[in-house]
Amino acid sequence: MIVVMEPGAKDQQVDHVVKLIEEMGLQTHPIYGTDRTVIAAIGDKRNVDKYPIEQAPGVEKIVPILSPYKRASKELRAEPSTVAVGPAGFPFGSGRVGVIAGPCSVEDRGQLIEVAHAVKEAGAIGLRGGAFKPRTDPYSFRGLGEPGLEILAEAREQTGLAVTTEVMGVAEAELVAKYADLLQIGARNMHNFNLLMAVAQTGKPVLLKRGFSASFDEFLLAAEYILSEGNQQVILCERGIRTHETYVRNTLPLAIVPAVKRRSHLPILVDPSHGTGHAYMVPSMCRAAVAAGADGLIVEVHPDPEHALTDGAQSLTPEVFGETMQEVRRIVEAIGRTL
Ligand code: PEP
Ligand code: MN
Repeated sequence: MIVVMEPGAKDQQVDHVVKLIEEMGLQTHPIYGTDRTVIAAIGDKRNVDKYPIEQAPGVEKIVPILSPYKRASKELRAEPSTVAVGPAGFPFGSGRVGVIAGPCSVEDRGQLIEVAHAVKEAGAIGLRGGAFKPRTDPYSFRGLGEPGLEILAEAREQTGLAVTTEVMGVAEAELVAKYADLLQIGARNMHNFNLLMAVAQTGKPVLLKRGFSASFDEFLLAAEYILSEGNQQVILCERGIRTHETYVRNTLPLAIVPAVKRRSHLPILVDPSHGTGHAYMVPSMCRAAVAAGADGLIVEVHPDPEHALTDGAQSLTPEVFGETMQEVRRIVEAIGRTL
């Protein structure tokens, strides 16, 4: 970090800050400019309490240099991480683009098995479907629970697709891990640190969705919770954030893809379904996300969106999903990657 002193800070104030920093076990390197002094603090200060420096007389501000997240950052690991998922061990982060698709919720066996075969046919490598659904309205469909997980496991047996489903509570982490290949942490739970630790401890790969009001740093710090529990298999997922806009359900900030690539080694997927809320926008945002360098997509597909129990408005029909996959494949190839 760099401590920036106020213009005109006195020598004894600078000396005091130097002493405080050195007491923290860091080295100091003061730079005396014409109108202000800055002090570089050298060493890993991530576990250091900066409060006494911030409060010291003559200090204007502290500028951090290292990221607050260690294990998620490129400072620790410069090469991209690869996370192998599902029966075929699809390597997210390897340069291949992987698409996970399926309904928002598992509604019944017929619906899920039908959609699983359709998305597989179109080229998806993963099947999504919620068995435990986080719903804003408690009286709406909240998922089938364990019977939904059993249906997902059967679909995996029939298709070889990697199963992705959400874990909503610490109490269900082990149960869901018995059935799923990739454990999803939903946007509403990104800040649920006990849940992050519980899913990490299952040892399964984790798909961490960004909270809709979470900052970039908070998102990576949530990933850090999982990594710091010893589970390195973290895949980030941008699913849109809440803004003043009303023409979309959420605003999809695709610039997070290059931002993650610059600062982290973790793979990142994009969810254009929750990221827009409207089926007609989903194909374009799938193309754009892949063009931006996303490692994959997670897309809601339903055999009958009009009658879907959850998120019908943003679900593609299998037919539109198939067309979208063909367009995505062309873009993936144009940027020198494979689907
Ligand atoms: C979902 O994937 O269906 C879901 C609820 O996502 P999010 O947590 O991003 O809202
Ligand atoms: Mn959904």
